[in-house]
Amino acid sequence: MVRVHLEAVGDWRWTTDGQGDERIDLAFPVPGETVAEIDFFNQDDYGVVPVEGTEPPWRHYTARRVHDEGRTIVVDLAVHDGGLASDWAVRAEPGHVLGVFAGGDSRSYYDAPADAGWRLLVADPTGLPGLGRIVEELAPGAVAHAVVEVPTLEDRQELETRGDVTYTWLVTAQGARTGAALVEAVRDLPVLETPGYAWVACESAASRDIRRTLRTAWGMPRDRHQVVGYWTAGAVNVRADRDDEDAPPHDHDHEHEHDHPEPAHQH
Ligand SMILES: Cc1cc2nc3c(=O)[nH]c(=O)nc-3n(C[C@H](O)[C@H](O)[C@H](O)COP(=O)(O)OP(=O)(O)OC[C@H]3O[C@@H](n4cnc5c(N)ncnc54)[C@H](O)[C@@H]3O)c2cc1C
Repeated sequence: MVRVHLEAVGDWRWTTDGQGDERIDLAFPVPGETVAEIDFFNQDDYGVVPVEGTEPPWRHYTARRVHDEGRTIVVDLAVHDGGLASDWAVRAEPGHVLGVFAGGDSRSYYDAPADAGWRLLVADPTGLPGLGRIVEELAPGAVAHAVVEVPTLEDRQELETRGDVTYTWLVTAQGARTGAALVEAVRDLPVLETPGYAWVACESAASRDIRRTLRTAWGMPRDRHQVVGYWTAGAVNVRADRDDEDAPPHDHDHEHEHDHPEPAHQH
């Protein structure tokens, strides 16, 4: 995992909506460059009609922490083979410039009902930033169990919380697909029958398996769990795949949802 601190350029600020898995969309420099090309998104007609030029690469991430009243945003990027954003994270240096898509409605998914007596939080490395912030922002005494898959034992994180949190840390087995361990671990959990809430953020195939367990074995209704596919094995730049059966799989057409990106320095 590479942690970067993005510092706003000029007067622009990130307006945090306070939910732990708050999504942030970032435009990245192409390989060999250090500055993201954001003029494409800043065309006046962008999002209204098809605009000229080539869209620069961008990806979904999580605002892991927000400091200085929105001036600094902390982002944790999971490192993996063959990813544009991941490759940038490995070569990131102070002074690089990313584009940050700002404004609009809240982009969080975590939404535990007030009467939830417990929370089940499930994440692979891409969901860990959101899980970390959810845990850190739990109300005093809030009960949660976190099931997290990481590449090595050293990737486990110490999370501060006022909640009452227990953890199952899983390490991806040699040759196994990321997420398989999460599927199995959730299947093996004792079913809780009191009202609770589950939040899952991981690879899409694994997230679908876990959703099935929550709905069938746990009998959890739709408003009691949020399962989001954060990436799909073999697919580039997958759009957020929410737990919403009424919507098409990739209902987040970015041409319509992004406001103009603002530049942010990485340091
Ligand atoms: C709401 C939301 C929030 C997210 N927050 C974070 C976050 O805070 N931190 C984070 O690291 N990711 C996060 N992600 C996931 C991230 O957007 C994807 O992993 C993205 O594909 C990474 O872009 P890339 O350019 O590195 O890889 P891409 O160019 O998109 O993909 C290239 C190849 O790498 C594979 N791949 C992508 N991600 C991974 C991975 N993690 N492990 C192994 N293979 C992978 C793809 O299947 C593809 O074959 C989030 C996703 C969503 C939907």
